[in-house]
Amino acid sequence: MHLRLPTSIWSLLVWLLCLLTGSALAAPYETSVALGRIQLDKGVLYLEDVSTKLTLDEVRQRQDWKTSNSSTFSQGYNSSAWWLKLTVHNREQRENWLLEVSYPVLDHIDIYVLQEDGLQQFLLGDKQPFWSRPLQHHNFLAPLKLPENTSAEIYLRVQSTSSVQVPMTLWDEQSFHTMQIAPTIMHGIYYGGLLIIALYNLLIYFVLGERAYLYYVSYIVSLALFVSGLHGWSFMFLWPNATQWNDQSVLVFLACCILFAVLFTRRFLASEKPFQTWASLLFYVFIAICTGAIVAAFLTSYAHVISVLVPLAVAACLLGLTVGIVACFEKRASAPYYTLAWTMLFMGGIVIAFNKANILPSNLFTEYALLIGSLLEVLLLSFALAERINQERSLRIQAQSIALDTQKQANDALEQRVAERTRELEYANKKLQEQSDTDQLTGLKNRRYLNQFLESEFARSNRYQHSIAILMIDIDHFKSVNDNYGHLAGDLCLKTVAEQISQCNREPTDLVARYGGEEFCFVLPETTATGAQVVAERILRQIENTAVTLKSGSLRVTCSIGFYASIPTSAKEVNTFIDRADAALYHSKQNGRNCLTNFTDIA
Ligand code: GH3
Ligand code: MG
Ligand code: MG
Repeated sequence: MHLRLPTSIWSLLVWLLCLLTGSALAAPYETSVALGRIQLDKGVLYLEDVSTKLTLDEVRQRQDWKTSNSSTFSQGYNSSAWWLKLTVHNREQRENWLLEVSYPVLDHIDIYVLQEDGLQQFLLGDKQPFWSRPLQHHNFLAPLKLPENTSAEIYLRVQSTSSVQVPMTLWDEQSFHTMQIAPTIMHGIYYGGLLIIALYNLLIYFVLGERAYLYYVSYIVSLALFVSGLHGWSFMFLWPNATQWNDQSVLVFLACCILFAVLFTRRFLASEKPFQTWASLLFYVFIAICTGAIVAAFLTSYAHVISVLVPLAVAACLLGLTVGIVACFEKRASAPYYTLAWTMLFMGGIVIAFNKANILPSNLFTEYALLIGSLLEVLLLSFALAERINQERSLRIQAQSIALDTQKQANDALEQRVAERTRELEYANKKLQEQSDTDQLTGLKNRRYLNQFLESEFARSNRYQHSIAILMIDIDHFKSVNDNYGHLAGDLCLKTVAEQISQCNREPTDLVARYGGEEFCFVLPETTATGAQVVAERILRQIENTAVTLKSGSLRVTCSIGFYASIPTSAKEVNTFIDRADAALYHSKQNGRNCLTNFTDIA
């Protein structure tokens, strides 16, 4: 096929021939060890075979080849078979070269290599099981053996339900292996990164049970499987024999990607407060289309489904961005991270698109822009979720402190009420106690209280060996008051006398009590007979000089007193003292009344 001429002359001749014939006869591609790799698409000849029935011999006869001028031969979605034709001339000493087609989702690529020693054919494409490839690589590789200064005419027949893109590279085999390291590491970092983030968030989901994490993990897994499907890794490692599923998997995982991204967004942003109705409606539309696409992936052609899913993916990305920006304006927590995440993915998409449109040059960054963008997106979404946990935690702490405050306030109020109730009860008890200790008519202490008082005072006097005095006071001729003035007047008289006796009580330690009827008892702790006599005289004078004012006029009464003072020899001597004071009182009565008697004097 080739003429043994120096390379430059060969090229010049071919070029002249092209000019003269006007036909599409491209210059051969020259191998270069120095470059390592040569992009082949630009200037390649191509032919559309709408019938898909043309054979190699038939296309070789055809004169209507056209020249492709784009950096990647690309024809979109169609059912034609596409023939590509190129010539490679090896001017290097190395014999082993590789033809790579780096679009692993193509269905059929038949490569025919015509050399001096005959025709070699490779049947590639993902409709062939993976093991049948001449070289086990995620992209399509055809080994070319080109002795120095020989040429090969190469025909490719490409047919695919996916978009027809044939990015071809001619590699020096050694350079190929060297230059595979960087992209393989890039992919390793990408899938490794996704795997770690997915596992980590799955664990968080198990711990927290928050569905946003499950959607997020599902999104990451779908994204990883979609991208690995596009790059041929899934076919290589996961389902090397599933030729039909390999095509469907790209659709299914792209649909899942969109679906989970939308579900995640809805859950992530809507959980804070109900989202706008327009967004909610759109979310449902997306969910419905994605679900439909997953079913359709198994029922209808790849081209139909992908033509829906690609614009849907762009729209989903835009929707994510829009709701993110709106959420930022609404000052929702973690919305900035979320928005930045979608911006990264979007930027990745834009860089790829610009690269495909030749606006941006091809380099490692532009080629892997989508991978970088999506990895950054996933990372930032992790940040967004972490930020949300943070927000929720601070909200919880806030709520807890509010609850604690409320509880404290309630406790304080309760304590206050309990204290009030206790005070009321204490007051009521005191009142009750006072009532039960007080004689209703005179307001003096009653007999019950007197008994208690005597008991404790006698015990004390006995303990300290102090004298105690008891005065028994009885109104003289009281019966006649009742008889002459009536019972009510008698009561009034009793009250007046009680008041007068009380006024004679100057020491807080002393006690005046109504003993019964018109009889009173005056207890004077730490008092000797002399002191008791002073008090008794004071009482006699006080009563004598006081008039009881009645409605009908006024009346004067007197009283008789008997007393006894001594140091009690035992605490139980109360009755003895009372009896003795009583006896002295009796003596006063006998003595003409309105007088006092010390028991000691009559004993
Ligand atoms: P004496 O000088 O001997 O003590 O004569 P007296 O009339 O005071 O003697 P007596 O003990 O016989 O009378 C007591 C009377 O006091 C009998 C009772 O009617 C009256 N009395 C007792 N308690 C009350 C009371 O609460 N109110 C009234 N109005 N009278 C009472
Ligand atoms: Mg009396
Ligand atoms: Mg009496």
